[in-house]
Amino acid sequence: MRATRLAAAFFVLGALAGCTAARPVSPRFTLRQRDLPELAAWLPADAAARMSAEPRRFLDLLADAMASPEDTLRLVDKAHGLDPSYEPADLSDLGGRGLELSKHGLRLRAVALDDLLVMSAAARADGVTLVASSTYRSYAQQRDLWRAALATQPRAVVERELAPPGHSQHQLGTVVDFGSIDDAFAATDAGRWMADHSWRFGWSLSYPEGHEGETGYRWESWHFRWIGRPAAELVRDFFGGSQQALLSFLAVQGGWLEERLVPAGATP
Ligand SMILES: [Zn+2]
Repeated sequence: MRATRLAAAFFVLGALAGCTAARPVSPRFTLRQRDLPELAAWLPADAAARMSAEPRRFLDLLADAMASPEDTLRLVDKAHGLDPSYEPADLSDLGGRGLELSKHGLRLRAVALDDLLVMSAAARADGVTLVASSTYRSYAQQRDLWRAALATQPRAVVERELAPPGHSQHQLGTVVDFGSIDDAFAATDAGRWMADHSWRFGWSLSYPEGHEGETGYRWESWHFRWIGRPAAELVRDFFGGSQQALLSFLAVQGGWLEERLVPAGATP
């Protein structure tokens, strides 16, 4: 009798475990527990470990990030470029909005504007002034900068901190260089504030310290790209602060993930 009851208990437990395994980890994706090793295989080792520890949070953030506006998570680096004619349709002038600007004519995509305004106000409330110094650059502007830099500096130096035309994140219209645009920025109040708080507003440091082998660029403490709040949280909490790692993962696995997304409004 006792043995039968024990067996029955094991049966119920087993069924419950089977039930958990059969249910999607997050209501946003069709992925189940047994699919997670496949997902983990596409992630850098540290990100895979963090995802395995908190798969539900990872997938919920990922689903939110994947709903972000077009091209805001597009990988643009030394190997992935933009067409010379690429120009975002929603560029807005930053003037007349209460922002501190180093010059006239700075433009940014409208999708990133709200979070720039909210972030600037939050910094101001902490007694910190953020100055936007360089934002959208066309292909032609980047080409002129590139040529001018090569005329005065060795190519190896230029390549560490300036993207060739067609390969600059600035052409996406979602990047802001803040303050002095040099190494001194990191030690300023604005530099320290941005390092701590920018992720809360969807802004992400593109070229962090110690990641040159991965990004191809030396530490640029002033260069922030708006990738949206869910993606910025993913970068911070799951990808070890590497925007490049998240965007590379999405560039490779975006299609695989899209196929496993639960359509908005559907119940899995
Ligand atoms: Zn920049």
